[in-house]
Amino acid sequence: MVLLGTGAGQPMQKREKSFGIQMLSVQPDTKPKGCAGCNRKIKDRYLLKALDKYWHEDCLKCACCDCRLGEVGSTLYTKANLILCRRDYLRLFGVTGNCAACSKLIPAFEMVMRAKENVYHLDCFACQLCNQRFCVGDKFFLKNNMILCQTDYEEGLMKEGYAPQVR
Ligand SMILES: [Zn+2]
Ligand SMILES: [Zn+2]
Ligand SMILES: [Zn+2]
Ligand SMILES: [Zn+2]
Repeated sequence: MVLLGTGAGQPMQKREKSFGIQMLSVQPDTKPKGCAGCNRKIKDRYLLKALDKYWHEDCLKCACCDCRLGEVGSTLYTKANLILCRRDYLRLFGVTGNCAACSKLIPAFEMVMRAKENVYHLDCFACQLCNQRFCVGDKFFLKNNMILCQTDYEEGLMKEGYAPQVR
């Protein structure tokens, strides 16, 4: 069975530096907190708490894409003093591994095809004899680490029956 997934696999989960974001409502009778982003006082009704600091909702942003992190699933990622959303963190720092077909690196954010232990670029996942592409759920065969469609696999078996391949 062909499985489709993003490259963000389990192996890198442990190395991720993710931090939770809390949204707190500001009590009117407390002293306003300073925002770690713009250094001004937070006079809004809500503030965000992350990395042990307080932030305006508008000031806790991804350094890359400027998205407001309080809205994007309440997690932020840091690396080298950058505050990033998950998407950019994975794009910049996550790596899935190497494509089993072309052996080039696959960034963690890219969609990949998985077959057993192997990961493949979407473009690389095709029968290596006839170049037929597979869809999710299609049958494919792995032989000597080659991806084969059913036709080529069965043809190979037939040929081998007559002339076994010597490796
Ligand atoms: Zn601010
Ligand atoms: Zn971002
Ligand atoms: Zn590839
Ligand atoms: Zn084929």
